[in-house]
Amino acid sequence: MTKQKRFILQESEIPTKWYNIQAEMPNKPLPPIHPATHQPLTAEDLAHIFSLECSKQELDQEHAWIDIPEPVLEMYKYYRATPLVRAYALEEALDTPAHIYFKNESVNPLGSHKINSALPQCYYCKEEGITNVTTETGAGQWGAALSYAAKVFGLETAVYQVKISMQQKPYRSSIMRTFGATVEGSPSMSTRAGKDIITHDPTHTGSLGTAISEAVELATTTPNCKYTLGSVLNHVSLHQSIIGLEAELQMQMAGEYPDKVIACFGGGSNFGGIAFPFMRHNFTGERQTEFIAAEPASCPKLTRGVFDYDFGDEAGYTPLLPMYTLGHEFKPANIHAGGLRYHGAGVIVSQLIKDGYMHGVDIPQLESFEAGILFSRTEGIIPAPESNHAIAATIREALKCKVTGEEKVLLFNLSGHGLIDMTAYDQFINGDLRNYKLTDEDLAKGMANLPHLI
Ligand SMILES: *Cc1c(COP(=O)(O)O)cnc(C)c1O
Repeated sequence: MTKQKRFILQESEIPTKWYNIQAEMPNKPLPPIHPATHQPLTAEDLAHIFSLECSKQELDQEHAWIDIPEPVLEMYKYYRATPLVRAYALEEALDTPAHIYFKNESVNPLGSHKINSALPQCYYCKEEGITNVTTETGAGQWGAALSYAAKVFGLETAVYQVKISMQQKPYRSSIMRTFGATVEGSPSMSTRAGKDIITHDPTHTGSLGTAISEAVELATTTPNCKYTLGSVLNHVSLHQSIIGLEAELQMQMAGEYPDKVIACFGGGSNFGGIAFPFMRHNFTGERQTEFIAAEPASCPKLTRGVFDYDFGDEAGYTPLLPMYTLGHEFKPANIHAGGLRYHGAGVIVSQLIKDGYMHGVDIPQLESFEAGILFSRTEGIIPAPESNHAIAATIREALKCKVTGEEKVLLFNLSGHGLIDMTAYDQFINGDLRNYKLTDEDLAKGMANLPHLI
């Protein structure tokens, strides 16, 4: 019985360029626009909030390959290349003819893929003379990765963490503080945005939207401070493309090519990371790989959202972005324990869905945890609750193969481990979680104030 097979790249084989899918998309994404004037934004406009280099990368529709700076590559080598694993034991448990592979992004000490973008974002800030970075974080993986990356490049960090997540996952704030960051629950009383939100709703438990508003306000009112974002934006998917570029080489070592590439979907960075390098072969017609983004049924922007310009945050401080959205005032139910709570999809992914290159699937909460527990017991890794959505979608595909007898090659991204999310597993094991299906009325509320610009 073969239990697991790992495909490992040598340090010298780690790709030295990121892949910028924007340059090769058949239809380019629509531009971000200014909320008041509706004029397309330039890199100089974005650079009020982000580092200039990330602002340029955000809008770059020209260069398909972008050099990874040497100091970032050196830091990548602390934990990359990450293994590609053939999950024989999971295949056996499912009694499926499918070949299941996963890319294991949980092996770095921070425990998720987020560090792949935290390092370059901090590096560019340092290069541009910035001294402080700020951000929002939900479950805390991004905040943890950023706090560490900031230390590596000698920057100070202030993190706004979604209040409910801070209460549910106290150890992530401890990790951020250990790396030297200051952490505040959002909505807080330390920004105008936070005060406004608390004035309207004193019991607000926070959302990524409230935390983004606060972090952006801090960045725009503090000299030498830039905002950083761990998902949603194009430059983040660019940095994450290292995942798929490595996986492509490792699939070659395995002598196979994926029929389906699957990842969980919050704002799209780990999905884009594993999917986009493979998708470039679909653009040329050379391959017909299916790309599946797995989102929670309780935050279904890909399958039930609308395509429109919307704000990235609750208070409306960010540029308007063209994307599938549930409305920036959307709040997932508190019963939802699996992360992936963001209201919108990135602009690249939104265009790719419109053009039929990929699609979303909704995973009910209980199915996601059942999948995570089966994976834990077969592969010996407890996945992040977010990653469980990808595993559940992969299991669905593997079971389809069982019915048809097809030996499809499935590749999913294990975006992180769940060792600091055991409260959610406890809730599941104790029977305290349930499925939560949003009604059309719930959804209509969040989407009532969209600008209808598309
Ligand atoms: C942040 C995070 C996600 C969701 O973000 P994406 O940008 O959609 O990838 C998924 N898994 C883990 C482990 C995360 O930390």
